[in-house]
Amino acid sequence: MSNMWERVGRLIGEDNLDHLAGKQVGVVGLGSGGGFVALSLAMCGVGRFVLVDDDVLERGNITRHVADLRSLGQNKAAAVADLIWQRNPDARIDVRAGAIEDHWDCLDALDLLVVAVDNEQVKYAINEKCLEKRLIASYAGVYERGEGGDHVIIKPYDGPCYACWAAATREGVKIAMNSVGDLDYGMIGADGTLASEPGLWVNVTKVAGIQTDLVLNELLRGTAAYVEMPANTLIVSNIYLDIIEGAESDPHTGIWIEIERDPDCLACGDRLQKGVSLLARDENDSISLDELAASRLTTDIVFEEEAED
Ligand SMILES: [Zn+2]
Repeated sequence: MSNMWERVGRLIGEDNLDHLAGKQVGVVGLGSGGGFVALSLAMCGVGRFVLVDDDVLERGNITRHVADLRSLGQNKAAAVADLIWQRNPDARIDVRAGAIEDHWDCLDALDLLVVAVDNEQVKYAINEKCLEKRLIASYAGVYERGEGGDHVIIKPYDGPCYACWAAATREGVKIAMNSVGDLDYGMIGADGTLASEPGLWVNVTKVAGIQTDLVLNELLRGTAAYVEMPANTLIVSNIYLDIIEGAESDPHTGIWIEIERDPDCLACGDRLQKGVSLLARDENDSISLDELAASRLTTDIVFEEEAED
């Protein structure tokens, strides 16, 4: 590596810098949060990316995005890739201009996925794919007007999946089965996005900065630089915030909480791990009766009853 990386190498160690240079991180959603995370990971040494976004940079994005007026009209993933190459010309970046639903193949070679989309329905679809592919994912949420935010790293079948996690942390989220056996999630607005107003850049990037740091730590797992975190979920406040009932958090503080996996979760629960993932496959993937019989999807599960919940 060129001497451009000398100081980063000195800070985190040359071996760790080499380790990060070989890691491949996916970022879905290159908006204010995802764009900041992708660029920051690159500036800390991560060398390979897949960037996925179906949106173009508009004038209204400019005050809340790492890319500026020079990238107006460009796809956001392509705009962020250009910024990364300005910091690390050796970075290998696979730019996917489109919806993640059309690019599931890009998850196959990843070490970790950063989920930075607003649409909750898309997050649930990503969660199901990550369970199927056993892919570690990082989810950050910024609260209304940037008053605070949270972050969790989801490890498939080791702790909660995003569906269990959201059911525990997002009031009103409910998961059920519809009549064709697909997962159906509650608390989604008409446009598929949780009702919220965007926060200022300074508040969004605080959450995104924490997300970057925790993703780097996860990528360094197995090295001496890895630090065990106190719990799986960090909630940060930018203002006086009522995070835990009856206890107001001071501005610019955070609390760690542990969210447990729900053994009855319809996305990752013990009973359904095998059966539902088989049923949820694309219809062009045929499932034999033997496979169904071999799964633990037995007669005690009645989809119609679940759907009525
Ligand atoms: Zn779950």
